[in-house]
Amino acid sequence: MHKVVRDFSKTVVVPPEGIRLAYEPEPKVRSKYRQEIEEVLITKGCLQARVEGLAKEIKEAFADINEITCLVVLKGGMFFAADLIRILDENSKLRTRLDFIRCSSYGDRASSSGEVTMYEFGDMEGDNILLIEDIIDSGKTLEELQSYLKSKGKQFKTCVLLDKGVAKHIKVDFIGFRIPRIFVGGYGLDYAGMFRGLPEIVVIKKELLK
Ligand code: 5GP
Ligand code: MG
Repeated sequence: MHKVVRDFSKTVVVPPEGIRLAYEPEPKVRSKYRQEIEEVLITKGCLQARVEGLAKEIKEAFADINEITCLVVLKGGMFFAADLIRILDENSKLRTRLDFIRCSSYGDRASSSGEVTMYEFGDMEGDNILLIEDIIDSGKTLEELQSYLKSKGKQFKTCVLLDKGVAKHIKVDFIGFRIPRIFVGGYGLDYAGMFRGLPEIVVIKKELLK
């Protein structure tokens, strides 16, 4: 049975059985993905609720600033960022710019190769940056990204949707959910290019991962 969560004002700790809102039914895996997906970990309603909570935290942290550049880490952070930025821009005095960075280490596998490649798009000279990332596992990717931005003298805060609680050495300003150390997909996150379009966070079956 999924745990019912009511407070989305701070990082939500997700148990292995998953979470849902009080009014959401017990979530089921879509039949077309039953071979590949073990269970729904975080429902659409919980994602929405926590993204709103995060937007509130971010607005408070940037209370004395008028404009931020949201630097989205492609591709996984795309859906999360799209939801978050629209709430930020709708309900605050903050003006937002949007930019992207590509940073890849996983390829088609489920564990990091340890090497991180970076591709930058726009120029963010002098901007207040909000770095938006989908997930931290070992912390390697975020560590590289943060030191890359630091080396360019950028001021930034970091926001991640999911944290597996492993990378204790990395400073993250805003964390959506703390999840168990399992491989997840959905809401922008993929496995070998699949599952990004799912509106919830799901657990990928272990036997699928290589
Ligand atoms: P790290 O460098 O922290 O070990 O891993 C970070 C990157 O690996 C994330 O940006 C993400 O792209 C990918 N990653 C880590 N864990 C998962 C996971 O459970 N599911 C998916 N789809 N990607 C993950
Ligand atoms: Mg990523």
